[in-house]
Amino acid sequence: MKIIMLGAPGAGKGTQAKKIAAKYDIPHISTGDIFRANIKNGTELGKKAKTYMDQGLLVPDELVVDLVVDRVNQDDCEKGYVLDGFPRTIPQAESLDAALAKLGQKMDYAIDVDVPDQVIVNRMGGRRACVGCGATYHLVYAPVKNEGICDTCGKELILRDDDKPETVQKRLNVYHEQTQPLIDYYTKAGILKTIDGTVDMNDVFKAIVDILGE
Ligand code: ADP
Ligand code: ADP
Ligand code: ZN
Repeated sequence: MKIIMLGAPGAGKGTQAKKIAAKYDIPHISTGDIFRANIKNGTELGKKAKTYMDQGLLVPDELVVDLVVDRVNQDDCEKGYVLDGFPRTIPQAESLDAALAKLGQKMDYAIDVDVPDQVIVNRMGGRRACVGCGATYHLVYAPVKNEGICDTCGKELILRDDDKPETVQKRLNVYHEQTQPLIDYYTKAGILKTIDGTVDMNDVFKAIVDILGE
């Protein structure tokens, strides 16, 4: 089962992708997480990506496409995978399709987690990320047991630089210009499924399981 998560920044793609990965036992591939790990480790890729990410801009297609294609060709992806945060532009989607076509494969589902901009702006201010393991929480909707400390690894939680209000608005603009056209792209490909992302995260997941099957 090969799944793409679509949706605005903060729509809940990562939250749902983790649940899908656990239930269907497939890898969760988040390009944002890959970039943040590279930044943390001080790699060349991380240095290049950071300048774009800090401004709320997309990292150039050529820095992301090969990375994902290499990743989905690894052995653990044989049964499928869930892509979170990729593709984000039409050229990225075309490159992915071309790479899969070479292997005689294609994506099965593109799940659009639909959330209006106003809800996103409210949500992002409450998102907290773990500096250790990258786990994501929310002050109100997904609180930790001990304030400011990751439930999983015990490290500190932070507000991501790009989740500050001025950058969130910019990222939403980038989303509407460069990523939203993918909804049309995957509708034409016949694999788009739209779900309401404004309800409780467990109910969002139920809607996804209805689509993917038990
Ligand atoms: P969110 O989950 O809030 O949408 P991500 O963690 O997916 O954020 O991405 C954070 C940042 O990483 C993006 O704003 C962008 O700069 C960069 N990025 C992640 N994935 C891609 C991609 N496929 N193409 C270009 N840039 C990307
Ligand atoms: P994305 O990967 O699309 O950027 P996340 O999964 O990181 O989005 O979710 C953004 C923030 O909203 C996180 O703090 C998360 O805990 C919270 N969140 C996710 N889904 C919901 C939901 N259905 N209702 C309320 N808050 C949610
Ligand atoms: Zn952690």
